[in-house]
Amino acid sequence: MRPLNAQIRLDHLRHNYQTLKQIHGGKLLAVVKANAYGHGAVRCAHALADMADGFAVACIEEAVELREHGISQPIVLLAGVFDAAEYALVERYRLWPAVGSQWQLEALIAHRWQQPVDVWLKMDSGMHRSGFFPHNYAAAYTALKQSRNVGNIVKFSHFSSADEADSGMTEMQLEAFDLGCEGLPGEESLANSAAMLACPAARRDWGRAGIALYGISPFGGIDERLRPVMRLSTRVFGERVLQPHSPIGYGAAFYTKKSTRVGLIACGYADGYPRRAATDTPVAIGGSRSRIIGRVSMDMITIELDASQQGIGDEVELWGDTVNTNEVAAAAGTIAYELLCNVKRAKFTYFD
Ligand SMILES: *Cc1c(COP(=O)(O)O)cnc(C)c1O
Repeated sequence: MRPLNAQIRLDHLRHNYQTLKQIHGGKLLAVVKANAYGHGAVRCAHALADMADGFAVACIEEAVELREHGISQPIVLLAGVFDAAEYALVERYRLWPAVGSQWQLEALIAHRWQQPVDVWLKMDSGMHRSGFFPHNYAAAYTALKQSRNVGNIVKFSHFSSADEADSGMTEMQLEAFDLGCEGLPGEESLANSAAMLACPAARRDWGRAGIALYGISPFGGIDERLRPVMRLSTRVFGERVLQPHSPIGYGAAFYTKKSTRVGLIACGYADGYPRRAATDTPVAIGGSRSRIIGRVSMDMITIELDASQQGIGDEVELWGDTVNTNEVAAAAGTIAYELLCNVKRAKFTYFD
């Protein structure tokens, strides 16, 4: 069997949830959209079910999957519904929809509800993707409040640059949010992972933890308080010694400088490993760091082996414990979020 393995450490997930909840204070949504950032939404939600205050997903299909697997905690639809008919499912599955645009608001009020629905009313405090502008927010809030169909309203917004300490955007958005919410009672939610770690003023009633829940620092480095949940590993299944000045792989993009032992491993861009991470991207062979040499192929990668010890059968970590996912992301010009979401063809194994 092809030896590409994604180990998912659910004990790390639980540790991260508790750590983040303590840092944020109040209540914390576990964001499990996109199949829990590639980790497996149902397994992750079950692992958190006895501690999570609620979950957050991107769409109704993701929420229904959790409900059908017995998840009974609150589930927030971060983008709300995509058409008015989905409100029937929102009611049936007892979900909390975000309301971020006028049509969503009008359709929600027009829907015939058996019981009042709790909503998360989104403000566009400066990211300019969705939500009501601060100057329209009170009107949207009041329209919902006056409807018999609406129960609780949680006021929320999302930051564009919470991972960039000096951008000034987060402070601007905080100010816009607080101004737009003036005089409107109820709970609030602002912080994603980066904001709950770096910005105390963003810690309100509900946090929304995504990337940090999976043990990855949103700032690019390593956060010792968090434990990486995914460990992606494979094995060396080929080795050869190349003379100096030998090209390796597609495009002959790398030439050996000296006599080099090269290992061939079972992982490639069809598994979600980023093709842009070529020569010098770190890997770990049996716990010792080494590097990719040459380009990433669809199903294989070539790596540098040491003088004699390493070879066929050795385990190679692509990311997880010795190689931080953020290092691979940086080498590929992307972010760890994308790498985690893209993993496929690997055998997923869950550990408690
Ligand atoms: C995805 C998402 C989050 C989680 O963001 P992280 O940076 O992964 O913590 C929080 N809030 C909203 C609205 C989101 O879409």
